[in-house]
Amino acid sequence: MFDKILIANRGEIACRIMRTARALGVQTVAVYSDADTDALHVAQADQAVRLGAAPVADSYLRADLIIQAALDTGAQAIHPGYGFLSENPDFVDAVVAAGLVFIGPSADAIRAMGLKDAAKALMEKAGVPVVPGYHGSDQTEQTLVAEAAQIGYPVLIKAVAGGGGKGMRLVEDPSGFTEALASAQSEAKTAFGNADVLIEKYVTHPRHIEVQVFGDGTDAVHLFERDCSLQRRHQKVIEEAPAPGMTDMMRDTMGDAAVKAAKAIGYAGAGTIEFIVDGSDGLRPDRFWFMEMNTRLQVEHPVTEAITGVDLVAWQLHVAAGGTLPLTQDQLSINGHSFEARIYAEDVPAGFLPATGLLSHLRFPTDARIDSGVAQGSEISPWYDPMIAKLTVHAPTRQDALKRLQTALGKTEAAGTTTNLNFLRKLAAQADFAAGDVDTGLIARHHDMLCTDDAADPLDIAVAAITAMGICAPMGPHAGFALWAPLAQSVTLQRGDDLFRVAVTITGQSTVQACIEDVVLTLTARGPQWAANGQRRHAVEHTDQISVFGPQTITFTHPNPLERGGMTAGGDTVTAPMPGLIQDVAVATGDQVTEGQRLVVLEAMKMEHILRAPRDGTVQSVTAVTGGQVSAGDVLVALEPDA
Ligand code: ADP
Repeated sequence: MFDKILIANRGEIACRIMRTARALGVQTVAVYSDADTDALHVAQADQAVRLGAAPVADSYLRADLIIQAALDTGAQAIHPGYGFLSENPDFVDAVVAAGLVFIGPSADAIRAMGLKDAAKALMEKAGVPVVPGYHGSDQTEQTLVAEAAQIGYPVLIKAVAGGGGKGMRLVEDPSGFTEALASAQSEAKTAFGNADVLIEKYVTHPRHIEVQVFGDGTDAVHLFERDCSLQRRHQKVIEEAPAPGMTDMMRDTMGDAAVKAAKAIGYAGAGTIEFIVDGSDGLRPDRFWFMEMNTRLQVEHPVTEAITGVDLVAWQLHVAAGGTLPLTQDQLSINGHSFEARIYAEDVPAGFLPATGLLSHLRFPTDARIDSGVAQGSEISPWYDPMIAKLTVHAPTRQDALKRLQTALGKTEAAGTTTNLNFLRKLAAQADFAAGDVDTGLIARHHDMLCTDDAADPLDIAVAAITAMGICAPMGPHAGFALWAPLAQSVTLQRGDDLFRVAVTITGQSTVQACIEDVVLTLTARGPQWAANGQRRHAVEHTDQISVFGPQTITFTHPNPLERGGMTAGGDTVTAPMPGLIQDVAVATGDQVTEGQRLVVLEAMKMEHILRAPRDGTVQSVTAVTGGQVSAGDVLVALEPDA
């Protein structure tokens, strides 16, 4: 085993790898950017080396600096985590050339699976079922149109170099093909520097089921499947293992195919074979097809660890240090059921916009596995993936595990940034999901129910008002008589466009009365919570915001009443909704614009945001510059004031 390893990553995955390394007595070296000086992964490592400025191109993607850091600190091996350099074969070559061990597959294995077309061709040869379609080198439009017709609509156009759903277009019928092709190619060219595409049959009622494989370069086993069908815009949200409705026969067939795929490339380390499954008629062994292989440890590996009892990072270190597979296929089995939910700083009702902020309050349940790279007081910066944590539960049955997931999500509290927790809670309670009837379209089909924030109820409003007054449960004996808190006070709160005026009166040692218009509530302090009508809530205040935790997390702002007059949004300016990089500026001073016209494209956290004209008008000034970095609230374009 190694004495010391360097982890070329950040956040939860760096912390997760360190946890196993520590348990095995292996020392760890962290690397960090200037934005991560105070990050948890830096604090938890035995040693830490600064790479450079916050942008990933100056830090976490600097292969040269990372390798140098490993050499300088005497680390023998580098674990890449996921993302960043984890699937970069040139990095693997450089690591090996420096006399270090790469904890992962060979550069050749990564190259073989790097492009979707080559990977499909390779798998076809190895006898693994692949999605019917065209993955040839002739990229002329004429050929692609003919191939699409041959395959039969609907078809999916995919960038061969694609990832994260980029460069992918669903085409329902021939009339939309040319336009979709052009836009997929241009997106692929921008994102990957490679415009080549392949065309696939679009599988209806698709389920995403992937198989965890593990190889030692000679032999390979599978550690069963994960169902990752709960996706929004091709991004996984909740994963589970095993897949609901999986039969022994289908599992064996898929497992064998996955092992065949791993062996075909002499795979060493942890990998995932992703399959698309037609679930329109239950799970059937002749209805799954290879999509791609991920040649690294996956975000969702904890569900596999939960049901198999295997520590996949320990296996990675063992095999990278020259060991053979710790267990044979026969020695592996499934125990119970597991779910993982990805908790993100993001604004779901606004279209899953990534959010930033200081996590002023963060509480996790103690009876779930939490993989996190942040703690209370940490900053979710605009520079990296806005993940807060992964929450994983495990129980003997799917039903029990689901109940645990619901309870654990209900007990998770975060404030200081917008999170997707309300969305995850609703999703965990959604009827089709609860019944195990999942497919990749589930979230989109139930979008309105899942993605809109519930209205605040009177108890939420009352508890927010009490908290805004500075009264905390449990109340001290003198709460009502403190000099700074009068017995009765009126508080104004805001949530979105709604303003709430609440009259709060302290009526006893631990009771408060709140009047919201004609609703009167009597609240009693119960420990740190407030109770009324058999329900409970508690709240935290941070800067000018108050978050109330109940079935949903409801956040109010506590505006200064004097400033309220200026709150209505002016229609004269376009401002940056979040920090990011200006990708394109489509207007100049003096241009006439119409409402909804695209003015500026902002790239923030791997997403493009199109900022549009708020109304018809003339452009007075343009402050946005292509390639410029902007902060949230910066004015990018101003229109001449309305006459
Ligand atoms: P990426 O590498 O960009 O993430 P994938 O090939 O892994 O792209 O596909 C991402 C998701 O798109 C899958 O999880 C699945 O939901 C959907 N998908 C991919 N291929 C098909 C297909 N042929 N039919 C239906 N859905 C598909």
